[in-house]
Order: sequence, then structure tokens, then C-alpha cells
Amino acid sequence: MTYSYDDQNIFAKILRGEIPNKTVLETEHALAFHDIQPQAPVHVLVIPKGPYVCYDHFALEASPEEIVDFTRAVGEVCKLTGVQAGENGDGFRLISNSGENGVQEVPHLHVHVLGGRWMGRMVQ
Ligand code: IMP
Repeated sequence: MTYSYDDQNIFAKILRGEIPNKTVLETEHALAFHDIQPQAPVHVLVIPKGPYVCYDHFALEASPEEIVDFTRAVGEVCKLTGVQAGENGDGFRLISNSGENGVQEVPHLHVHVLGGRWMGRMVQ
């Protein structure tokens, strides 16, 4: 499988500072910012800084350091926004739309962190 990265996508522009964003957290390998069209009281996007198109691209080709940093960043975002599923929060949903069938709009891997309300059942 090969992945071709378009460096003109909107999240690449955000990473280069060409488009503003409302940052929640920045780490060595990840950036988290508020979604521009929130679908829940908490709706944060977490993206790796590296040029990864989609979730499988990242999971298969990123370095262990990038993967750990990104995964930890997701956990920190849950904590910072108060939606963690531990004793002090009500929980959240992670979504990573990938590729055509996943209806991915922006071709730079992103994980949606959604919370602050009942998210409904995915499968009835
Ligand atoms: P996708 O369908 O999983 O690719 O979701 C892309 C998400 O990016 C959508 O939820 C959009 O609202 C969000 N989005 C697009 N442009 C921006 C932006 O400039 N800042 C923050 N979020 C954005």
C-alpha cells in the first residue's frame, strides 16, 4: 500500500501556521485544536505533525515515538477537556474517518475527540 500526501490540505496549512487554529495542546509530534464545526460540546481534532494521510498510514509507518506521543496527546486532550472516562469524567467517543468509505474530508490523519453529551449508540 502506498499513500500519497497532499501538503496543500487544510491541516498541513494549520501545522505550517498559514491558517489559525484554537489550540488545545501541542506536543513534539502532535497538535490538538477545536473543530471549526463542533458536533458536541467537546469536539477536538488531534493530528500528528508528520505527513500521514489516514489512520492506517500512521499506524503502519509512523515511528514508535510518534505513535506514543500521539496516543498520549489524545489521552491528555480527554483529560484537559474533562471528558475522560475515568472516575472524574463522563466519557467520550473517538472517530477517525479514513478514506472514501470512511468519508474522510481532510487527507491528513485526524482523530475526533467528541464528548460533553450522550453520543448515542453506533450499532443498534
Ligand atoms: P473528516 O470528515 O473526518 O475529514 O473531518 C474533517 C473535520 O475537520 C470536520 O469536522 C471539519 O469541521 C473540520 N475542519 C475543517 N477545517 C477546519 C479548520 O480550519 N479548523 C478546525 N477544524 C476544521
